[in-house]
Amino acid sequence: MNSKFSVIYGDGIGPEVITSALEVYEALNEKFNVGLEYIVVDAGLSAYKKYGTNLPEQSINAISETCCLLKGPTTTLEEPGSELGVPVKIRKRFDLFANIRPVKSLPGVKSLYSDLDILIVRENTEGMYSGAEYMINKDVSIGVRVATRAGAERVFRVAFREAEKRRRQVTLGHKANVLKATDMLYKQVFYEVSREFELVKASEMHIDALAMNLILKPQQFDVIVTENLFGDIISDEASALVGGLGLSPSANIGERFAMFEPVHGSAPDIAGKGIANPIAAVLSLKMLLEWAGAQKAASSLESAVRSTLSEGRALTPDLGGSATTKDLTKEIIKNI
Ligand code: ATP
Repeated sequence: MNSKFSVIYGDGIGPEVITSALEVYEALNEKFNVGLEYIVVDAGLSAYKKYGTNLPEQSINAISETCCLLKGPTTTLEEPGSELGVPVKIRKRFDLFANIRPVKSLPGVKSLYSDLDILIVRENTEGMYSGAEYMINKDVSIGVRVATRAGAERVFRVAFREAEKRRRQVTLGHKANVLKATDMLYKQVFYEVSREFELVKASEMHIDALAMNLILKPQQFDVIVTENLFGDIISDEASALVGGLGLSPSANIGERFAMFEPVHGSAPDIAGKGIANPIAAVLSLKMLLEWAGAQKAASSLESAVRSTLSEGRALTPDLGGSATTKDLTKEIIKNI
């Protein structure tokens, strides 16, 4: 594995939370001799102002020479004809086909459930988000939902491999009773791939029932895998069960490269105030360390975050405290 990762600070609160994550990384590196170097890459609004594009070619080249990327939130312009957002460009360029969102209860955090540990694996390149949308005339539009055997196989393998490391259960969320071509293909491939993983239990649930059960009986799930649009919706639903945006990390995984980023956006309303919660970024670093094989450092980081939250001495305003990003970061480092 390449021993360098790349870093995009991002926009809004991005630089604040990524600075925290890097300070935490330095502490872990000192203690566990992780040995990964990092390079900082220009992307997002700052790059747009300098180069007229949010992801200049030299940044893509620099990222290509690293094992993985720690990315802060970047602002995506919503004007007609504006370029794609940075994460979308990176997902396409590096074919990051699986989006992984852990949904794990954290101590001391107000949430609907205190005993959840679910992993949502979402297909990231096909479905309704493959970009095949057309205006037939000014009043009629159509979108094409793409589902391929190859796309399904690779994302299901990621889900089953993750389940092998956990409680060995994968649930497919689908709607094959209505989507008789696309989701039926996914369902068939799901059971074919499941035969490669004899120790993992494969089950299925219609996505609407799954959305309901996530609220009513979420403890029944270990790994949930589903296509792009369904996954987009249920992963936000699930993160609300355990305390929301400031705490939720994510990974985008490909065959040879991966990007790790907090789920939250650039939060312009609190940017520059020094009060952003850095935990989603710090837990994204934890996922990066696992990907890079630094298991000990990753486990220590997760324990440090959990201790910091249960002690409750330095909580940011979104967690009901009055601490700053820096205070919370210092506590995490103390607990490493
Ligand atoms: P974007 O357009 O970049 O997605 P947004 O404002 O639409 O930005 P978020 O940035 O995700 O969406 O923010 C939604 C709300 O959650 C805001 O009120 C924001 O302040 C809050 N929030 C998001 N991330 C954090 C964080 N890390 N710490 C504290 N509050 C946060």
